[in-house]
Amino acid sequence: MEGKAVMRSANIISCIFGILGVCALAQQISSQAPAPGKRIVIAASTVLDGRGRALHDTRIVVENSKIAAIDAKAAPVDYDLRGLTVLPGWIDAHAHITWNFGKDGKNAGMGGTTQEDAYQSASNAWVTLMAGFTTVQSPGAPNDLPLRDAIANGKLPGPRILTAVEPLFGRGEKTGTPEEIRAYVRQQKAAGADVIKIFASQSIRQGGGMTLSQEQLNAACDEAKKQSLRTLVHAYKDAVRAATLAGCVEIEHGTLATDDDLKLMAEKGTYLDPQAGLIIENYLLHKEQYLGTPGYTEEGFAAMEKILPMNHELVRRAVKTPGLKIVFGTDAVAGAHGRNAEEFIDRVRDGGQDPMQAMVSANSIAAEALGMADQIGSVAPGLQADIIALDGDPLKDITAVRRVVFVMKGGVVYKHVSRAAIPVYAGVQP
Ligand SMILES: [Zn+2]
Repeated sequence: MEGKAVMRSANIISCIFGILGVCALAQQISSQAPAPGKRIVIAASTVLDGRGRALHDTRIVVENSKIAAIDAKAAPVDYDLRGLTVLPGWIDAHAHITWNFGKDGKNAGMGGTTQEDAYQSASNAWVTLMAGFTTVQSPGAPNDLPLRDAIANGKLPGPRILTAVEPLFGRGEKTGTPEEIRAYVRQQKAAGADVIKIFASQSIRQGGGMTLSQEQLNAACDEAKKQSLRTLVHAYKDAVRAATLAGCVEIEHGTLATDDDLKLMAEKGTYLDPQAGLIIENYLLHKEQYLGTPGYTEEGFAAMEKILPMNHELVRRAVKTPGLKIVFGTDAVAGAHGRNAEEFIDRVRDGGQDPMQAMVSANSIAAEALGMADQIGSVAPGLQADIIALDGDPLKDITAVRRVVFVMKGGVVYKHVSRAAIPVYAGVQP
């Protein structure tokens, strides 16, 4: 209660000194929840609905946290987004949201527990939201839990977070018996996991060999299913087929999967989350900050230059595989938060993906892969009011994904850049 009173007086002060618009925004953000009964009408000339359709000259009606209607006659208009491209908030199915650089500027991973680490994680969440991502799935770090819950409880602004908490690392026989693996999956559920992450391959830099047997993978993915949890499997080469046969839900990376593996995934409905470029480009951009920290050697960096074209090649084959469900995921680590949309550019420019399909991969397909298609990923009545706008048309110029000028999540507006102030790069970087 005391906290609330302090927040209210801070708002009054910002209202006294601020201009009216800033005051209203501050009040909305401090509560992180829409005012009860409030109705917001958004006017748009182009809406990409997240399912592959474009709507023109219409209005989106938002009531409380949800989209109430699509009604061209709705009035009065609160936000005039005509001339922009409006679409559902993006979903990043693979973002290490608590992965930071430490005080010394070097890679500090995602296990930090200092105040600086906590602030940095909050900053990662903020810049990710500002970049148009209203939901992210983290492949797991125990630090995700307090961040996820603080955002869900309205204490911090950020994307909705789903997390695997602690991944299952394949270590051959040492991983355990199928029964032990099942127990581990149940343990993650008890710890609050939204999804189970499984490492079934070595690093691609070490050859990408399998680290779990078929029997072990079967146990992990079957137990997760029994616990009503989805599975994300870090897999290269042979592990792609093994994870698909084990009934796992989503394959991460997938480098060196064969055409037959991709076909099998399409048949089985297994989602593929490949990374076309941001992750490796980010490592190369921040080489000094990663080099010498655990897992990052000169040899590793040399290998990355070879892996980049392999990943482009995978995306080129994946987009040509009929029926394969490709999900948007960036593998964002320190240095990449807030730049997640760069991955769209790589997928379209280097992977040959159709731009509308690239948008859908981060909207309805990602929502479906997260088991949340009835809540997010489309501009449709009854869904969460997660709505963003781009200054430009991503179907004609994919770099428009860098210019996110409006962000609403759950009916709360977090970003609304005035026309005159639209910067060249509206994404932000800590
Ligand atoms: Zn990752």
